[in-house]
Amino acid sequence: MNGPAPDRAAKAIVVLVACPDYDEPRVEAALRRGVGLLGGIGRFASGSERILLKPNVLVGAAAEKNVTTHPAVFKAMGRLLLENGARVSYGDSPGFGSLETAAAKSGLADAARGIGIEMADFSAAVQVSFSEALIARQLVLARAALDADGIIGLSKMKTHGFMRVTGAVKNQFGCVPGIRKGEYHVKMPRSEHFAAMLVDVCRRLKPRLNVMDGIVAMEGNGPGSGTPRRMNVLLLSADPLALDAVFCRLVHMPPHNVPTMKPGAESGLGTWEEDSIVILGDAPSRFSCPDFKVVRQPPVPFDRSFPYYLKKWITPRPVIDPGCCTRCGICSEVCPLEPEAVAPADRGLPPVYDYRRCIRCYCCQEMCPHGAISIRRPVLSRLIHR
Ligand code: SF4
Ligand code: SF4
Repeated sequence: MNGPAPDRAAKAIVVLVACPDYDEPRVEAALRRGVGLLGGIGRFASGSERILLKPNVLVGAAAEKNVTTHPAVFKAMGRLLLENGARVSYGDSPGFGSLETAAAKSGLADAARGIGIEMADFSAAVQVSFSEALIARQLVLARAALDADGIIGLSKMKTHGFMRVTGAVKNQFGCVPGIRKGEYHVKMPRSEHFAAMLVDVCRRLKPRLNVMDGIVAMEGNGPGSGTPRRMNVLLLSADPLALDAVFCRLVHMPPHNVPTMKPGAESGLGTWEEDSIVILGDAPSRFSCPDFKVVRQPPVPFDRSFPYYLKKWITPRPVIDPGCCTRCGICSEVCPLEPEAVAPADRGLPPVYDYRRCIRCYCCQEMCPHGAISIRRPVLSRLIHR
């Protein structure tokens, strides 16, 4: 269903397409319909261009866990591009472990092999200057992402402890290779600074099209240990900010409480305001989910220089449930501080936090493979941000 590009001058277009499950033909039909409503695949990739697919491969987890972009969505997008003559590869930099392992566990490696898409080398990094940056004038990015003619983001609809939600904008952070991601957390512990850096990464990489896998989303303790929530929808847009804003509205989260929205709009990445977004496809009311479990308040301000009592009584902290903890030690490994603010498990006991030093980046909660870490809000924080 190709056609002329929709003429909606000055407004961002977000397409919503219903899809009840991950049955491959159904996903492919839904995706083709969505891309058609945006004007056809030719608007986003032409001829023999090198197109990089950027799925969310946070960690190696089976597709049914809904941590990663589902292989059926990945395959459908890959097929569409290949049919159009593009040379397609895919890549991401998982938060823990190698892309090879994570892609194999999530089913993405099989899906890629099945349609003849190669894995890009995301280990080689390049430092690039970005003079129009809000905050990150020097960025270290995967060479494969920079070398591609175009990027198509394939994000997953999930909650996120630090940024509230993870979607199209944050998905591009995976183009920052491995350990560098932790360095950004250390340099920018304040949520507004970190969000501005995410916006810079997305502006520098300029994904041409953003697709969000919201067929089964993740709510609660996301982005790695939340609960699957059926939303039955694919979202598509050339505007990553507008796409994330529509996701927020579907789950009754005020978009302006997501820290990427303000810097994203101010820097020209996109728009989040309702009257500047046109929704095409299926009616948003079909996917409205008022009881979606997501923290709807903005992140609590945090600064390393805050006195300890402020951190203790105001800033939410990661807490380990000893009954769920397997003492695997991954939380300590991914903590970006040196030395880490969560000591490795010792003598069979769960790891112990040093909350005085902890910068509340929640990387440990994000990466715990057993859902043993949750983010607890102190009473005062709940009173400030109801
Ligand atoms: S990552 Fe999770 S399961 Fe592993 S030691 Fe830390 S808290 Fe325990
Ligand atoms: S302990 Fe967890 S939240 Fe604190 S700095 Fe380390 S990874 Fe971040």
